[in-house]
Amino acid sequence: MAVSHNPLVEKHRSFLTRQQKMLIGDSWVDAAAGHTLAVLDPSTGQEITRIALADETDIDRAVEAARQAFRDPAWADMKPTARQKLLLQLADLIERHADELAELESIDNGKVAAAARMADLNGTIEFVRYMAGWATKISGETLDVSVPRLPDGKFFAYTKPRPVGVVAAIVPWNFPLMMAIWKVAPALATGCTVVLKPAEQTSLTALRLGELVREAGYPAGVLNVVTGLGAQAGAALVEHPAVDKVTFTGSVETGKLIGKSAVESMKRFTLELGGKSPMIVMPDMPVEQAVQGAANAIFYNQGQVCTAGSRLYIHRSIFDEVTRGIADHAAQLTVGPGHDSATRIGPLVSEEQAQRVCRYVEIGRSEGARVLTGGERLDRPGYYVSPAVLVDVDNRSRVVCEEIFGPVLTAMPFDTEEEAIALANDSRYGLAGSVWTRDLAVAHRMAERVEAGIFWINCHNVLDPNLPFGGVKASGIGRELGKASIDAYLETKSVMMRLA
Ligand code: ADP
Repeated sequence: MAVSHNPLVEKHRSFLTRQQKMLIGDSWVDAAAGHTLAVLDPSTGQEITRIALADETDIDRAVEAARQAFRDPAWADMKPTARQKLLLQLADLIERHADELAELESIDNGKVAAAARMADLNGTIEFVRYMAGWATKISGETLDVSVPRLPDGKFFAYTKPRPVGVVAAIVPWNFPLMMAIWKVAPALATGCTVVLKPAEQTSLTALRLGELVREAGYPAGVLNVVTGLGAQAGAALVEHPAVDKVTFTGSVETGKLIGKSAVESMKRFTLELGGKSPMIVMPDMPVEQAVQGAANAIFYNQGQVCTAGSRLYIHRSIFDEVTRGIADHAAQLTVGPGHDSATRIGPLVSEEQAQRVCRYVEIGRSEGARVLTGGERLDRPGYYVSPAVLVDVDNRSRVVCEEIFGPVLTAMPFDTEEEAIALANDSRYGLAGSVWTRDLAVAHRMAERVEAGIFWINCHNVLDPNLPFGGVKASGIGRELGKASIDAYLETKSVMMRLA
């Protein structure tokens, strides 16, 4: 193995020097065909370990293990209080290993380790605890029924929620552990079993999660973790006839493929897809607050956030001041490795992503955009791109319409509230949005009219376990977080009994 200059890689050598095996049932296994894929450290570009590359045979085994576990009385008949306790135990274990998991996330994804500890890990731990609470609060209804066909009959009717079954959870690389837990925790709260497939770029924390789930005392097969390529392992999982539900977070293009395939076999599905979220700054907003808010909304996690505030609409009266402020701010953000406490912008996840982001900045230039700052590859190994601010862009240009998924902000002026709403809604996406104003009436009119699954007022990218999250339009189908994500893993069974 090449010598790495990432001190976190040295620190976690004992985990990283073993070849990563997959969790299927109660065993840690290599891919049946023996194929592996290199895991690269985004801060250096060096290989740090290898993961197994699952194919149809491995997926078949994992789904079979999940199927068996779903039927096994040890899980199927487990009391809600026991499911709650297991989730609480898992949360405690994740908390105990939070520093390690945050560091693995930084090694694998490139993100700033301190930010991963603060946001990804705290978010993960609190979400598991929140979902533990739901395990004991799942309920159906009793219903008054009339049964018009049998006017003299007396009936008793109720609904009983049932776990949907075997869940295929396919997650992306931007928040690897948190996106996995958004799916795994509600599935386990409801009594489903799971085959988790992390993104091929970032599988390490999912594998570590598999270890912690076993350590927490879950029966074998309740969570299985398979690693591999989307088009191979992911597609095999989606197509597998014994999978009952697919829950996916990723790109629109892959989401469409998955939706089509799922419908073919009548699987349930939840799709959490991309975004190009608008952030609207009204003229009453103090410039400094707008600058700080916009910079955080786009540059957090290197802009690799599906709700990133990537389309910034600023009232013309303060447009120059705010964009200059953001550009100055961006130019001062320290770009560096995720393990360095001075770093504010880490490397992007992969060489492919770094090239893609730089290509988009070039596309922007060719479309007439003025690059106020950034968009440059750093002259060092690793996938570093400086944060960019683009102005003089058109709402129909590619840099404004397409999801870049990197630290690239496009900013446009507007004159009226009506115009701002029209610009914001002129997008195929509808994941998130925000307005920045002190005017309550404007704020609530915007909240009503901007087409988005989640809308923020005077903040952006703020999530809570209890607040449903998901998109409208091309940004997806279904909701995660909150009670909505419990419902997403349940089927309603209706029961009718004749009394007389
Ligand atoms: P990105 O383009 O950002 O990598 P994707 O949507 O392609 O986003 O990937 C998100 C997740 O979906 C990853 O775990 C990836 O392996 C998986 N994936 C990609 N293609 C497919 C597919 N055809 N079927 C199932 N999963 C897929």
